[in-house]
Amino acid sequence: MKKIIALTLSLAMAASLFACSSSEEVQGQDATETGSGVYTGVGQGFGGEIRATVTVAEDGTIEDVSLEHDGETQNIGTIAIENLPAEIISAQSVNIDVVASATVTSDAIFSAVTDALAKAGIDASALVAKDQGEVVKTAEEITTDIVVIGAGGAGMTSAINLKQAGFEVVILEKMPMVGGNTIKATGGMNAADTDVQAGLEIEDSVEVFIADTMEGGYDINDIDLVTIMAEESSNAINWLDSIGAPLPEVTFSGGATNKRIHRPEGGAAVGEYLTEHLSRVVEELEIPVYLNTTATELIAEDGAVVGVVAESKETDFTFTSKSVVLATGGFGANEDLYTTYAPELKGFVTTNTPGATGDGIVMAEAVGADLTDIEQIQIHPTVEQTTSILITESVRGDGAILVNTDGVRFTDELLTRDVVSANIIAEDQSFAYAIFDQQLRDGLAAVEKYVSAGITTQADTIEELAELIGMDGTVLAETVANWNTMIVAEEDTDFGRTAGMANEIVEGPFYAISIAPGVHHTMGGVKINTSTEVIGTDGNAIPNLYAAGEVVGGVHGANRIGGNAVTDIIVFGKVSAESIIAKLGE
Ligand code: ADP
Repeated sequence: MKKIIALTLSLAMAASLFACSSSEEVQGQDATETGSGVYTGVGQGFGGEIRATVTVAEDGTIEDVSLEHDGETQNIGTIAIENLPAEIISAQSVNIDVVASATVTSDAIFSAVTDALAKAGIDASALVAKDQGEVVKTAEEITTDIVVIGAGGAGMTSAINLKQAGFEVVILEKMPMVGGNTIKATGGMNAADTDVQAGLEIEDSVEVFIADTMEGGYDINDIDLVTIMAEESSNAINWLDSIGAPLPEVTFSGGATNKRIHRPEGGAAVGEYLTEHLSRVVEELEIPVYLNTTATELIAEDGAVVGVVAESKETDFTFTSKSVVLATGGFGANEDLYTTYAPELKGFVTTNTPGATGDGIVMAEAVGADLTDIEQIQIHPTVEQTTSILITESVRGDGAILVNTDGVRFTDELLTRDVVSANIIAEDQSFAYAIFDQQLRDGLAAVEKYVSAGITTQADTIEELAELIGMDGTVLAETVANWNTMIVAEEDTDFGRTAGMANEIVEGPFYAISIAPGVHHTMGGVKINTSTEVIGTDGNAIPNLYAAGEVVGGVHGANRIGGNAVTDIIVFGKVSAESIIAKLGE
């Protein structure tokens, strides 16, 4: 669906169109002269083309920028679409900061505007951003019942439950948008013994869920936290249902004995879906969300947390509250921090949003919190390196193979994330290509995003594809032919792969995506008890400080299994609220 956004100043645009029509070309696809007029340009976004219409005044001033796009991601790319036109006009330049978290869309907008300006004879690269002048900061003191830090899944779930119970709550979010890493979750939410499973006649149990999670985590998980997560998972599904966010489909996912991963109808990506619904309820309940506001410090008095210091570009805030919930997510976007614990990850790209910097861990440590499993960091094997777009496991699950730069397979593509990652790293240049065909694309919606983001290479034959990615066509053709033979024979005699072997790679066009491992999930974090109270290095709970979600360690042990991140945030988001409600209600 074509979306038209930011069509501001349309009257001014129309006026300038008439004003300049005598002297300049308008709709400048073909214009070459320098000067005023309305010019259009194109950039390649995450969801396809972004088209800019730029109005240039007689004196060369950028008067208006309006954008059209084919399908940038809601709450990520669309934030850049909404905010950047005004910023470009204000700075009179495209040489300004990207919207954090929406880099691909931001760059596409800059390209589209640059393209349009070039048609006006203006070299956008030479436009120095106008000094916006020094911002005079104000100080604000706010008193509330609870401050929730972080507007991802855990934070919004906690805040909604608190507000529903009648408490005053505010959410602080350092990014310009809500959603955190939660918005990027694709698979679904694991839950056992649910009404949805019962309706679908799926047999499962809390006990098997616990066992699967412990086994997946190499048994170092905190069994008490895992037990709460599994026991409360069914209630969490019901709660989501109650706020209008049902997850009615259930399927298999890696590491689960039974069908347990609950997804939105039609298999839509769970993260975008939940973010949309949670933020809708936050809005309905009129919970204040302070965007672009970074919590910098927890205020402690006599060992108890009594508030939060935070700042935005314009304001220094001091929040005073009865409780604080840390829901700041993980630290997968903070290379300095994760290489402190895992130096071997130096130089890895990350699949995380830029807000995942581990601030909550640093702030909690400063008031005496203990950490657990902090060196446990999950890498995902298939991440496109120029955009950090995660290529979902379903691509391999549906039949793609991985080949090295020589065009040769080197692994069972569906081994666990850590093993496939290690096998890719061991290859020449430490990257590989995922190879698949049109048949796979037709059956997997996610591939459309990769194509529209421009990260796929495509050709009508395997030989041509090989040439485009700089490898020997004969070798790649032989690899694919050999693979197809093994599929027909139902046995991977090379690497013993048993899954994702339903279809041969035969139907052109053929596709390649270049991938290498990237940092994905930080399993470690602050230590909590089963009430989500943060535990200090002295072994006692730090009064009034709670934590939920990826900022917490212990739930996933040494390896998080697919579908457990969402369970973690919804269950422990709820538990944090319930614990505070019980405490403040005393
Ligand atoms: P979870 O999955 O645990 O909910 P997410 O990554 O989805 O975690 O969300 C965490 C949110 O917290 C992100 O939106 C991130 O930008 C935000 N955040 C991180 N550090 C801070 C901070 N210092 N102040 C305010 N918000 C923060």
